[in-house]
Amino acid sequence: MKKVISIILALAMIFSVLTVGASAAVKTECGGNCDTCPSIVVPGIGQSNVWALDENGDYLLDDNGERMSCFPAIFDIGSIVLKAVVPVLLTLVTQHDIGLSKALSDVVLDSFAVNMCDNNGKNTGNIEVEKYPYSVAECSEYEKEQIYDNVPLLDYAKQAGEDHLYYFAYNSFSNHLDIVNELYDFIQMVKEDTGHDKVNIVPISMGGSVANGLLEYHPDVMDSLNKVVYIVPALDGSTIVGDLLLKDLTFLDKDFLYNGFLETLMDEDEARMIEVIARILPDQVLLKCLNAVADTLVNDVAANITTLWALCPSSAYPEAAKELLSDPSKAEIKRQTDMYYKAQLNSDANIQKLVDKGVQVFNIVDYDVPLYCIGNTWNGDNADGVIHLDSTSMGVVSAKVGETLPEDYVQANTYCSNPEHNHISPDRVLDASTGLLPDTTFYFDGQNHERTARNDIIISLATRLLATDDITDVYSDENYPQFNGARDPRKIKNNLLPAAKNVDASTLNAEDASELAAAIAEAEAFVNGTVCVAGQEDKIEERLNSILVKVGVYAPDEDEEPSDFFSKLSLWLYDNYGTAGYSEMLPITFNLIFKGFFSVINDKILAPVNSLI
Ligand SMILES: [Zn+2]
Ligand SMILES: [Zn+2]
Repeated sequence: MKKVISIILALAMIFSVLTVGASAAVKTECGGNCDTCPSIVVPGIGQSNVWALDENGDYLLDDNGERMSCFPAIFDIGSIVLKAVVPVLLTLVTQHDIGLSKALSDVVLDSFAVNMCDNNGKNTGNIEVEKYPYSVAECSEYEKEQIYDNVPLLDYAKQAGEDHLYYFAYNSFSNHLDIVNELYDFIQMVKEDTGHDKVNIVPISMGGSVANGLLEYHPDVMDSLNKVVYIVPALDGSTIVGDLLLKDLTFLDKDFLYNGFLETLMDEDEARMIEVIARILPDQVLLKCLNAVADTLVNDVAANITTLWALCPSSAYPEAAKELLSDPSKAEIKRQTDMYYKAQLNSDANIQKLVDKGVQVFNIVDYDVPLYCIGNTWNGDNADGVIHLDSTSMGVVSAKVGETLPEDYVQANTYCSNPEHNHISPDRVLDASTGLLPDTTFYFDGQNHERTARNDIIISLATRLLATDDITDVYSDENYPQFNGARDPRKIKNNLLPAAKNVDASTLNAEDASELAAAIAEAEAFVNGTVCVAGQEDKIEERLNSILVKVGVYAPDEDEEPSDFFSKLSLWLYDNYGTAGYSEMLPITFNLIFKGFFSVINDKILAPVNSLI
């Protein structure tokens, strides 16, 4: 008996030591015993700092002494000018491609050198990824600033504690499989450090592709997940990347290049000015240069970067892989991208498995912003400016940007079985019942992908989803409905409202005073509310602005007539000379003059003479 007791005592001591050891390793205040699981942000493309290093492993510094970011590339203007100056001059003088396309290809290779990957898909650049393998509570002030600047989850951190927030930084141009495996290990680390047995993950944009890989390659991770809050996730890539890999690019069409392409990216008169300048080269020379740049970018840079392949839509993958990865030297890359292709095809099925296991899965999606007009399929689907809607929304049926569903369209209820739910968006652009998660997907009309983090409603929704269990679906809280709108109310909050409230209303006439009060009231209701429609913000800004101008606080906007000089010139050139460069215009001009001359002769002399005969 004594023996048994002493064994039990010994075991108890060992266990107590082990327990003490284990709890000592836990870094949270709650010790893992609170109701809020820790959350891990899996950010989007370019939302992690990657720094260039010199041969000694020290940071490369720019002229201002700042570290050099590798995203999206390092453009060394001095060396670019040195490389290009002679070919540019020779090409201009001869009007033939004397080394210019080659020089530009070299510039691409130099600029993207830090982001290149080898035939195993591993990054070969001399770089350092800034990582935070600890909670935000343990981050330095600098690190916190980086994190909150990308994803302003300050309120979440206040509610759940900074020891319940993690940021999984990774290099956007590197090996996708490695990143997925690293995230899996990161999740295990967070569980250990926080004492919680489950975590929430927040895959944002490109982070959606990392989540796809995670669920496919590490299915056991599903038992470690409490909630998944997707934000504009690239679950089926972006057609921009698909078009890039297929070199199906809008600007390689010369008519679009000289008339229309640049206008989609910048102010019209600036765009037209560039079109006018571009004609110093013959169109064939310019197109040869652009083709050379695209070829280098795709064949020599993008083809080996598996994180980029993870942004190729599944519909474009087979053809792009055949085109770029058929060579035996690319076998390892292809093995990895084929794996991801499968993960992408299984994305919905894996998310459904999560739901079936009781993991709460939410999705926040932007729509009704045209895709950057770079790839030829840019208008094939609705989009948020960067990713097509089918990808972020898990397959929703929608009308194209600027259009609505057909009048006789009836809600399809592909994934919703509740006949009382109305999942057609108020603007009749999409039918949420056709996306995989109709009751837990939130849509933001007119919201641009890149400004998602500046929409305070999206951030407060994400905070509520992560920090509380109040919202279980789009019907839980009328303050967070399924359909909402774009906004970034910082100008109203920080400038217009303070200026308006600062006005001494007693000095105003009755009409102005009442308009000022009404404008303030409307703006306050707007910024304090969590429901809006696209475009509402502009009207509120305008109203505040115009009363502030009327009462003399703001100077009236000087209505400068926008210049349309280059617009007229470029269109005139296009109408008369097509896409020709200036050096090619003389023969065309002669041709025009001759044509004109003969048509005059024909009309005025030959035709009358003929009619006489
Ligand atoms: Zn806790
Ligand atoms: Zn429903």
